[in-house]
Amino acid sequence: ATPISITTAAGRGAQAGVLIKDAEALERMARVDTVIVDKTGTLTEGKPKLTDVVARDGFEEDQVLSLAAALERGSEHPLAEAIIEGARARDLEPGRAEEFDAVTGKGVRGVVDGRRVALGNHAMMKELGIAADPSDETADTLRAKGKTAMYVAIEGTIAGIVAVADPIKDSTADAIRDLHALGLTIIMATGDNQRTAEAVARQLGIDEVRAGVLPEDKQKLVEELHAKGASVAMAGDGVNDAPALAAADVGIAMSTGADVAVESAGITLMRGDLVGLVRARKLAVATLRNIR
Ligand code: ADP
Ligand code: MG
Repeated sequence: ATPISITTAAGRGAQAGVLIKDAEALERMARVDTVIVDKTGTLTEGKPKLTDVVARDGFEEDQVLSLAAALERGSEHPLAEAIIEGARARDLEPGRAEEFDAVTGKGVRGVVDGRRVALGNHAMMKELGIAADPSDETADTLRAKGKTAMYVAIEGTIAGIVAVADPIKDSTADAIRDLHALGLTIIMATGDNQRTAEAVARQLGIDEVRAGVLPEDKQKLVEELHAKGASVAMAGDGVNDAPALAAADVGIAMSTGADVAVESAGITLMRGDLVGLVRARKLAVATLRNIR
């Protein structure tokens, strides 16, 4: 490609939904060798669907799903919508949770019809002192298929499991191939569990997987990669991942609609997929050639 000026790059980028803060961000983008991406909403549609409901002895499937959906009415997580949709599809009429509480990266809890109910991953159950087998066979089988399996607890006992799958975006596989061709190592960091994360990574040829990662862990991951001599672009949520974006050589905010560049980010992608990342890298490389 022919070298281009920063102004041209910024203009071309903006047209394609790639907002570049300044020349430095672009220069750094050309030099990074590693890119960290989130799974949910970036590699995948971020619009998961309910796939399975499993009840333990003494509990009913509809009861398990109904309580899960009641809790999720208080949540804005993409998983919540899938569970509520799934309950609706089964003609259930979930109630509402009182004393609702959402724990970032773990799950939700509250009181439904006078009973203490919780929904989430193993860490969520652990936090509530509920014994959930981390190598639960049902959950493991679901996770091996790339599904997110969540425990449903009623009054401190595991009553069942609900599973949700988030389809991989059509554009993701090609974009990963392009990023590899552009010399980047791709690391997926996700709050999801190891097996689900690996199932997705395997399908896509992602180089490295970090599962069970909380937003504050992402900053540590950037620091760890720096210690190994890597130059890192971190793509993430402009709000929750702000410290990690700031720690990276290039912070790339995946915007969720509002057409404003994110302050903590060198680059803001208006569409939350990897296509913008490919575009940003190509523009950066073409511009850097010119600067030199
Ligand atoms: P990601 O990094 O993939 O976006 P999150 O950090 O948002 O994932 O969530 C990590 C895990 O925590 C989820 O896979 C799920 O098991 C659990 N979790 C988080 N929020 C909820 C919720 N509202 N309902 C059920 N489970 C949840
Ligand atoms: Mg997330």
